[in-house]
Amino acid sequence: MLKNKLSQIKKEALAKIKATNSSKELENLRIQYLGKKSEFKKILRSIKDLASQEKKVIGPLANQIKENIEKTLQSRKEEIAEEKEKKEEWIDVTAPGKRNTLGHLHPLSIVQRDIEDIFVALGFEIADGPEIETEFYNFDAVNIPADHPGRDMQDTFWISQEKDRQPGSGIVLRTQTSSVQVRYMEKNKPPFRIIIPGRVFRNEATDASHEHTFHQFEVLVVGEKVNVANFLFVAEEFFTQFFQEKIKIRLRPSYFPFVEPGFEFDISCTSCGGKGCSVCQQTGWLEVGGAGMVHQNVFQTAGYPRNKYQGFAWGFGIERLAMMKYKIDDIRLFHSGDLRFIKQF
Ligand SMILES: [Zn+2]
Repeated sequence: MLKNKLSQIKKEALAKIKATNSSKELENLRIQYLGKKSEFKKILRSIKDLASQEKKVIGPLANQIKENIEKTLQSRKEEIAEEKEKKEEWIDVTAPGKRNTLGHLHPLSIVQRDIEDIFVALGFEIADGPEIETEFYNFDAVNIPADHPGRDMQDTFWISQEKDRQPGSGIVLRTQTSSVQVRYMEKNKPPFRIIIPGRVFRNEATDASHEHTFHQFEVLVVGEKVNVANFLFVAEEFFTQFFQEKIKIRLRPSYFPFVEPGFEFDISCTSCGGKGCSVCQQTGWLEVGGAGMVHQNVFQTAGYPRNKYQGFAWGFGIERLAMMKYKIDDIRLFHSGDLRFIKQF
């Protein structure tokens, strides 16, 4: 009776083990057939109550069956592992490949590097200064004292501004890269040609052409005989190289506290070449920035003797140039983090 039962268990167990393809299922089968609550264990426990004659037969048979089931479980387990490994290693050579996407430079970085390359080839050095600046370097040093109306031209983010402060001791987010002018001149004597690229901040409402955070590019050339003609040459050369087409420059008298005389300068329209179109509002010209001959007060603040040197300073927005070059119509796109925009560059 017991003998038949054991054979039956063995037959059933081996068949199920061989049929399964899952290692989890194998473990379930082990518990089912050899576990503490299994039929097989019950039989083993009952052996002690058998007549000694029967014990001699059933005991070894049970052991043999147990070993048999265990061995089968083990070899099936190995087979399953091997099959799994084969499956994972298998490469479908006909499957379409996955394209690795490479990172790339932000359009503003591309334009800034282009600008720097052009100026460096013209013999300019790149200068740098802090974005968190003293009121002195941002305003006073470039001829915009506290009571000067020029301060109202720029809305400022103040980091600290005490009521009883010493004049010029407040801390601001710089509103212009001109803040680096006197910093540089304090440590260097003319002649020099520098460019100052950098981030600037204005406390103002944003729209398609205004951002609270943007980038400027300052050009400063100082020597004993630097004049407006030098400025015109450098500007024309720069824009012609930047836009890869012949660009003309037009100056219009204007006012900036740090220059005398000061100009607004326009370049010939890059869309129509100066004939007149919707981009330039039929004028043939595009406003680009402000420029002028460095005010002698600025030289004096830097510690230079008055009227010994002449120089021109000139600033423009990097975003503005990028927008012209790539025909982008909203400045807010640059810092939007919108990948659909960034991926076009
Ligand atoms: Zn035009």
